Amino acid sequence: MEGRHAPADTDPIPTSPAKPCRTCVDFRSWMKSQRTRGEEAARPGDAAKYGCPADSLALGRGTWRLLHTMAAYYPDQPSSQQQQDMRSFITLFSKFYPCPPCAEDFREWLKTNTPKVDSRSGLSQWFCEAHNEVNKKLQKPLFDCKRINERWLDGWAD
Ligand code: FAD
Repeated sequence: MEGRHAPADTDPIPTSPAKPCRTCVDFRSWMKSQRTRGEEAARPGDAAKYGCPADSLALGRGTWRLLHTMAAYYPDQPSSQQQQDMRSFITLFSKFYPCPPCAEDFREWLKTNTPKVDSRSGLSQWFCEAHNEVNKKLQKPLFDCKRINERWLDGWAD
């Protein structure tokens, strides 16, 4: 996902066409789009090194970390209130994730992939599938969802 994003009318967080969406591009592309001398310094990891606001990579990594960890600690047998709250969280998250094109695709995926909120393992698998959908789109390797607990709860088996 490189370059500017022309916001759709339905984007809940509108971005000005004149102002590139920083959280929709990686730091290096964003620096290039600004045509500043900082371009020379735009190597992977620089966004964090210089204390810059999140770019698409940092935002994505941090968000997946939160979502997978939240699912790992979700109750095995959630109450109906907890299930309702998780559904609401996911709906609101899909409206406010601060990368409009990412959020739009996620909302589209949600239409045919109802959140599995009735158990910890169901929710963990569901977020794994959601993440794999983005991996597929970005042509990254798919994660083996059978290993979700090793990655986000127990640590890798020896
Ligand atoms: P990430 O994909 O961030 O993954 C972090 C770690 O999670 C990995 O190191 C791996 O150990 C683990 N992991 C990988 N896959 C899975 C899985 N399926 N289940 C569990 N754990 C896994 N970026 C875009 O450029 N375009 C988009 O449209 C876009 N949409 C996004 C939508 C959402 C809802 C979110 C949260 C992020 C989105 N991103 C998008 C960001 C993108 O998914 C990555 O976070 C970003 O590219 C950084 O990738 P990364 O290779 O560092 O690892």
